[in-house]
Amino acid sequence: NYIEDIENKLKKINDKNQAIVLTGTFMYKSNKSHVKLKDIVNDIKTITDNPIYTNNYAYVFNGVIGGFVDIGEHQGSYVAKEICNILEGNKIEEGILPKSSGMYIFDYKQIYDYNIDILKMPKDSKLLNKPKYALLLPKPLKITVCIVFSLLILIVVYVVYKFIIEIKKSNKNKKLYERAKEREQLKTDFIVNMSHELRTPLNVILSTSKVAELKINTNNYDNKYLLGKLEQINKNSNRLLKLVNNLIDITKFEQGVYEINLENINIVEVVEDIVLASVDYATYKNIDLVFDTEEEEIITAIDKDKIERAILNLLSNAIKFTHKGGSIYVYIKREKDKVFISVEDNGMGIPKDKINEIFNRFYQVSDTLKKHEEGSGIGLCIVEEIVDLHGGKINVYSEVNKGSKFEIILPIYMVEENFKNLQIKDIQQIVKLEMSDVDTKEN
Ligand code: ADP
Repeated sequence: NYIEDIENKLKKINDKNQAIVLTGTFMYKSNKSHVKLKDIVNDIKTITDNPIYTNNYAYVFNGVIGGFVDIGEHQGSYVAKEICNILEGNKIEEGILPKSSGMYIFDYKQIYDYNIDILKMPKDSKLLNKPKYALLLPKPLKITVCIVFSLLILIVVYVVYKFIIEIKKSNKNKKLYERAKEREQLKTDFIVNMSHELRTPLNVILSTSKVAELKINTNNYDNKYLLGKLEQINKNSNRLLKLVNNLIDITKFEQGVYEINLENINIVEVVEDIVLASVDYATYKNIDLVFDTEEEEIITAIDKDKIERAILNLLSNAIKFTHKGGSIYVYIKREKDKVFISVEDNGMGIPKDKINEIFNRFYQVSDTLKKHEEGSGIGLCIVEEIVDLHGGKINVYSEVNKGSKFEIILPIYMVEENFKNLQIKDIQQIVKLEMSDVDTKEN
C-alpha cells in the first residue's frame, strides 16, 4: 500500500531481467495521502532501470512503457450490478460476464527510451506520443535506415551535381569550340588580308623599281622623275615595315614581353606634335584636322613612343574612314587625376554590333574596309594594349554615317626619371611609317 515499501523492495532487486508491472495506487506512510501516478513512476525510475509496464490505463500517460490495460472495471461493474440485484431481491439478469475490453497501449517515447524492439509490439496495439512521420522500427534499424536514406540523398545530390557540371562543361566546350572556330576564321581572313597587304606594296615597289631601271637603262629620265619613284618605293617599304612591326608587337603582347619605358612628359605637346605632323595626310584627302586642348601642359608618366603610336593609329583610322571633305577633331582635357584624349571624326562610323569587335585582333568591319582602305585589323588591338599598359582605358562612341569618337583616358602620375629612354627620334619618320597605309595621291 505504501510507496516507501515498494521503493525498499525494488532497491533489493538487482536483476536486469525483471520487469515491473504497475497496478493500483499507493500512499505515503507519513500522511496517508495518495501519491500521484507520475510521482510513483518517476520515483521508481530513480531506483531502477528495469522497464515499467502497467495494466492500468491511467499509468500509460504518466511515463510507463504501456501494456495490456484492463483492470476488469467493466466486468467488475457488471458483477456489482448483479449482486445489487440479488441483494434487492430483484431477478438476476441472465447474462454472461462481459468479455475483457482491454487493449494494448504503448508510449512510443518510452519504447525507444528503454530500447525495446517496436516490431515485437502485439498486433493492433495503440501507440501514444508517436510523432507524425516517425518510423516504427527498432532503434538500430532506424539508424541504418537514416544512414541509407542520407547516403541515397547524398548520391542523388552528387549525381545531380555531376549532371549539372557535365552540362555546364559541355556548354563551355561548345562555347570554346565556337570561339576557336571564330578565331580560326579570323586567322584565315587575316592571312587573306595580310597576303593582300603584303602583295600590294611589294607589287608597287617591284613595278616602280622596274620602270625606274628601264628609264635609267634607256637614259630616259630626269632627277624629279626618279625622286618621285624613290618616294613611292619608300612609302610602300614603310607600309611593309609597319605591318611587320605590328605583327612583332602583337606577338610580344601575346607572350607578355611588351615593355613600356615611362618618363614624365607633357602629353599635350606629344599629342599636338603628332597631330601637326599628320596634317599633310589629312590634307591629301581634303580633310580638316583640328587640334584643341583645355590645358597647355599636363605632365604625366607615359611611354612617349607608344602613346605617339596609339594616337597615330587613331588618326590614321580617322583619316582612312572619313570621306573627302570631312573633319577630324583631336581634343585634350584634364579631369582630376586623369587626362582625356579624344579623336573624333565625322566619317562612316561603325555599326553598333561591331563596336565591341574592333579591338579584337585581325578584326575589320568588312564593308568599311574592302571598299575603302587598306589595313590589317591589328591597329586597335595594339592601341588598346598600349593604353592598358599605361593603366588607362579606351572608349568608343560611333554611329554609322555620322562618325566615330575614340577616347583614351590615362591616369596622371609621376615616375622617377628614366634616362634610358631619352633618345631623340625623327617624328616625321614615325608619322610616315604609321600613315603608310593611308591613301595619298602618289601610291
Ligand atoms: P585596320 O585599320 O588596320 O583595319 P584597326 O584595328 O585599326 O585595323 O581597325 C579595325 C577596324 O575598325 C577597321 O578595319 C575599321 O573597320 C574599324 N574602324 C577603326 N577606326 C574607325 C573609324 N575612325 N571609323 C570607322 N571605322 C573604324
